[in-house]
Amino acid sequence: MKTYGRADLAFVRGEGSWLVTEDGTRYLDCASGIAVNTLGHSHPALVAALKAQADQLWHTSNLYRIPGQERVAKKLAALTGLDQVYFCNSGAEANEAAVKIARRAAFEKGEPERTTILCATGSFHGRTLGMLAATDKQSNRTGFGPMPEGFAHVTFGNLNALRAAMGPHVAAIMIEPVQGEGGARDTHEDYLRGVRSAADEFGSLVIADEVQSGIGRTGTLFAYEASGIRPDIIAVAKGLGGGFPVGAVIASEEVGNAMTPGTHGSTFAGNPLAMAVAEAVLEELSKPGFLEDVRRRAALLCDALETIATRHPDRISEVRGRGFLRGVRIAEGFDAGAIVAAMRDARLLTAPAGENTVRFLPPLIISEDEIKRAADIFETTLVAAQPEMDT
Ligand SMILES: *Cc1c(COP(=O)(O)O)cnc(C)c1O
Repeated sequence: MKTYGRADLAFVRGEGSWLVTEDGTRYLDCASGIAVNTLGHSHPALVAALKAQADQLWHTSNLYRIPGQERVAKKLAALTGLDQVYFCNSGAEANEAAVKIARRAAFEKGEPERTTILCATGSFHGRTLGMLAATDKQSNRTGFGPMPEGFAHVTFGNLNALRAAMGPHVAAIMIEPVQGEGGARDTHEDYLRGVRSAADEFGSLVIADEVQSGIGRTGTLFAYEASGIRPDIIAVAKGLGGGFPVGAVIASEEVGNAMTPGTHGSTFAGNPLAMAVAEAVLEELSKPGFLEDVRRRAALLCDALETIATRHPDRISEVRGRGFLRGVRIAEGFDAGAIVAAMRDARLLTAPAGENTVRFLPPLIISEDEIKRAADIFETTLVAAQPEMDT
């Protein structure tokens, strides 16, 4: 089906931060399959883990114990200070499960009327029916109604608006600590702290949608860490498998205990192949100094983009985001989508996002030289960009 507006490009191979077409043309990958290829392409540790598991066992279903799940779950719990993990296959599924868990936890506490999920303006949570209702993009919903009930939206970053919407009907506040699709939008660290205290005050839970911002992308394992809070439920996917489809929901014991046998499930979820790769990704990220080095290189990218923004204030209105979830908001009169396409012609892959933003989502292993090269191609493309015609 024609569900994607695809570029007429096909890659057959990947090496580190590079993708290669059949005729050998090399593209610098600052899209990472939309924040997925955490360790770049063909990382030896991931290839080895997947190959070794492929020789042993692929799939058994959740009718039986899966030792890889137990290991990855222990690791995720240790890294977050939370207690229980549910595995799934994608970001939308992780968020669906997070919402089910939050509602069920309220139900089990004797508050069955506590069902509303408060989301933010500009949010993106996925494409299932439930997550269409959670996502703040009317055009994604057109023709797919009726939407599930129980989702409301408050202005991203505005604590007064959030507090005004709180009450005994709110099961959870669901928030991307740094919005991805919305345009690489970060907020004040105070905001997440305010979200946490509003939730505590009104007896609600905090769901962090870390599907895009998690797994090291913003320079810490999870983006919420910078604020010092701890969510009750964390949804993870994209980067967790480094390119293998896998998602996870991590929750506190109190919340997770609401889920008893039969309350949720998925045939494929957390199969041995997915777990082998997720374990390898987490091992690499946990190596001493890895995330520190990500922060150092991400700062170089940020500096380079800020410098370009200073030189071209007519074309760039803002550099935003955090770490390697970086966005450049293109000034009115120029089209971010056209700049992404022109950079692709110059063999640099990026991804467009909301609010006329060009998103840089390189693999976390991108080198300093590659960062410089990406910035150079961006500036050259930006300078050559034609203003849009007034209509
Ligand atoms: C991509 C994304 C999702 C949806 O993930 P899928 O794997 O495409 O279902 C959900 N939330 C956020 C923040 C995302 O960036």
